[in-house]
Amino acid sequence: METHLMPTYARADVAFARGEGARLYDERGADYIDLLAGIGVISLGHCHPHLVAAVQEQAERLWHVSNLFRIREAERAAARLCAMTFAEVVFFGNSGAEAIEAAIKVARKHFAAAGEPQRNRIITFEGAFHGRTLGALAAGGNEAHLSGFEPRCPGFIQVPRENEKAVRAAITPEVAAILVEPVQGEGGIHAFSDDFLRFLRGVCDEHGILLIFDEIQCGLGRTGRMFACEHAGVWPDIMALAKGLGGGFPVGACLATREAASGMVAGTHGSTFGGNPLAMAAVSAVLDEMEKPGFLPQVRERAEGLDLALRQIAEDFSGVVRALRGRGLMRGLHLREKAPNTELVRLAREERVIVCGAGENVVRLLPPLTITEAELNEGLARLRRALERLAHETG
Ligand SMILES: *Cc1c(COP(=O)(O)O)cnc(C)c1O
Repeated sequence: METHLMPTYARADVAFARGEGARLYDERGADYIDLLAGIGVISLGHCHPHLVAAVQEQAERLWHVSNLFRIREAERAAARLCAMTFAEVVFFGNSGAEAIEAAIKVARKHFAAAGEPQRNRIITFEGAFHGRTLGALAAGGNEAHLSGFEPRCPGFIQVPRENEKAVRAAITPEVAAILVEPVQGEGGIHAFSDDFLRFLRGVCDEHGILLIFDEIQCGLGRTGRMFACEHAGVWPDIMALAKGLGGGFPVGACLATREAASGMVAGTHGSTFGGNPLAMAAVSAVLDEMEKPGFLPQVRERAEGLDLALRQIAEDFSGVVRALRGRGLMRGLHLREKAPNTELVRLAREERVIVCGAGENVVRLLPPLTITEAELNEGLARLRRALERLAHETG
């Protein structure tokens, strides 16, 4: 099956033709339950009518004008994101990696503009994933991802998770920021404890360091709160968003306080496509839905149902499932060594339910936030069939 796409992905030999809610249909018309949502992107499900209408309406009016002009759609979206969070200013890009790059630049420029250019190091955590551009790769520190792309972008210090002593030991006068995913995604659906996130906030305040949360995967309703850091009751100074933000439209955002972004004056950063009217129409439509009073309570209700079902699965399939991970509708099944996550992902696909792998032999579930109880139950029933086969195979 040779194609002219650069073979950077291990793709499954399935092509989807159409989607609706949490259902996907392949080219032969077979239906799949989507418990992955395009890796947390299809936050409102496939082809949500409000999102479709908003993008269609904008597509007939104005797509792109460049950032040489005011863009009302971006001003409105930024104002809404700020009203929902700690932030006072937003930079829009087109991906998660771009949001992270912006966050790194905001933090470094903050100190450079304040006359401390040597203060440019950023502390990150083992198991982190922040994207595939050179800066984001260096921040993530994943050897397999970095290898062969040397020289590596300097300035990052990686420490173990949940280790207060290691964080304190890494803090020097050269440290500008601490960057962390409140719930690590690619690394294996590892949720940092609320206490540790509060510790990070405290230690940053104590040393005048900026705190950056990468909520690209765990933000925007995924964990049952609008932002995962709300569980811990702390806000960062800078926050990266992407994945669910456009509901499938490529868009990322770097949010910050005015103080943190004090160095980001005209000419310091840019992105040709960033914040264009078409992308902003998608963002506004996503926020319209997520800000409805019933939206997050329904995510939490669905998350409770998922949690109960997964507990039962972990009990019934304890031969292959080691433990459960994650929060809300961001969950992982940590599998035993003899049961590779890639095999469960493959079997699940054969049973027509979509999930994917994550680090540490975890199978990842990120269903659309709008998934119905019936869709979820159907997906979990199919996942159980895949687990039965896996248990049989590895018996
Ligand atoms: C996906 C992801 C990124 C990178 O986003 P891209 O849009 O692929 O560049 C960064 N951080 C986290 C936590 C992610 O899950």
